[in-house]
Amino acid sequence: MDRFTYDALPGRVVFGAGTSRTELAPELARLGAHRVLLVASGSAVSPARERTKDLPVVGEFTEVREHVPVAVAERARARAAEVRADALLAFGGGSSVGTAKAVALTTGLPILCVPTTYAGSEATPVWGMTEGGRKTTGRDERVLPRAIVYDPELTYGLPVRIASASGLNAMAHCVEAFWAPRANPVSTVLAEDGVRALAEGLSLIVDEPSAEAPRADLLYGAYLAGASLAGAGSGLHHAICHALGGAYDLPHALTHATVLPHVVAYTLPYAAEASRRMRRALDTDDPVGALRALATRLGIPAGLRELGLAEDQLDPIVERLAGHLPPGHPRPTDRDALRALLHDAWAGTTPKETV
Ligand code: NAD
Repeated sequence: MDRFTYDALPGRVVFGAGTSRTELAPELARLGAHRVLLVASGSAVSPARERTKDLPVVGEFTEVREHVPVAVAERARARAAEVRADALLAFGGGSSVGTAKAVALTTGLPILCVPTTYAGSEATPVWGMTEGGRKTTGRDERVLPRAIVYDPELTYGLPVRIASASGLNAMAHCVEAFWAPRANPVSTVLAEDGVRALAEGLSLIVDEPSAEAPRADLLYGAYLAGASLAGAGSGLHHAICHALGGAYDLPHALTHATVLPHVVAYTLPYAAEASRRMRRALDTDDPVGALRALATRLGIPAGLRELGLAEDQLDPIVERLAGHLPPGHPRPTDRDALRALLHDAWAGTTPKETV
C-alpha cells in the first residue's frame, strides 16, 4: 500500500424504506432542533409537508432553483433569520440540498437531509452558487449535513427520465473519484461499489420502472457516489460540466450524463487502475461501450447539441477552463485536447478509447 491521505467525514446515515415516516423526529431530536426551516421544491414539497406535519417546522423555503443563484441563497438566508430557525431540513434533489447548504454556509445551522434524487450532494461538504453566469464552488465543513435519511419509497415515483440522468450524474462522481486530485484507496473502494450499484439499478429501471429493488440500489449508489466525491474531490469531468451549467444554465444531471461517456473514453487509456475497476464493476471488457449503451437505453442524448447548446458556445468554455483544470488528470490536457473533447461531447461522436 502506498502513502495516502483521506479525510474521513462525520455524518450519520439512516437508510431504509419508510424511514422518512419514522426517523425524522428522532434525527431532529438528536440535533436538538426546535425551530426547523423546511427547504424543498417541486414534486418533493407535497411528500415533505406530509412527512413533517407533526415535526417542529416553523417555516418553509420552496423558491429553490438549480445551481443556487446567489439571489435565491440570500432569500433563503433571510427566511431562516425571519423564522429564527435552529436547523434546516433539506427535502428533495440536489438543488434543495444546495440551497440549505448556502444557508448553513453563513449561519452554521445544522442540516438534516432527505434526498429524493441521486445527486449525492447530501454526503459532501461542497457548496455551489451561481452569479453572472459563473458557478463558484467551495468546501466548508459547516455545510456538510449532520444526518441523511435515505428512504427509497420517496424515489419510487421519480420518472425514469429524471432517475436516468440523476443516476448517471452519480456515476460521474464515482468514475471521477478514481482520478480526482485527492483520490485515495478508501474513496476508490466506495467509488467502485458505487459504479456497480448504479449500473445495476439503472439497467433495470427502463424495463421495470415500478420495481422497488433497483430504486433502493440507486439510492445506495447515490450515497457511495457522494461519499467518494467528498473523499476524492472532482476533476476534469466536473470542471467541464460546472462551466457549461453555470454559463448556459444547462440541466445539471443531464449535462453530466451526456458528457460522461466522452470523458471516460478520453481518460481510460491513460488510467489503468480506473479501467480495471470499471471493467470489474460493469462486468465487461469494454467499459466505454457499456456506459454508452446504458446511456442510450436510458434515452440520454448522445451529444450536448441535443440540449440546445450551439457549437460557438464551446470556445468560451475552452478559454475559461484552459490553464485552470484540476491538477493530476491522468491524460495531459492542453487547449487543443480540451477543444476536441468538448467538440466530441457536443456533436455526440461515438466515444471510443483512443490515445
Ligand atoms: P434537482 O434538485 O433540481 O431535481 C431535479 C428534478 O427532479 C426537479 O425537477 C425536481 O423537482 C425533480 N424531483 C426531485 N425529486 C423528485 C421525486 N422524488 N419525484 C419526482 N420528481 C422529483 O436536481 P438534482 O439533479 O437532484 O441536483 C442538481 C443540483 O445539485 C445542481 O445544482 C448541482 O450543482 C448540485 N449538486 C451538488 C453537489 C455537491 O456536492 N455540492 C453534488 C451533486 C449535485
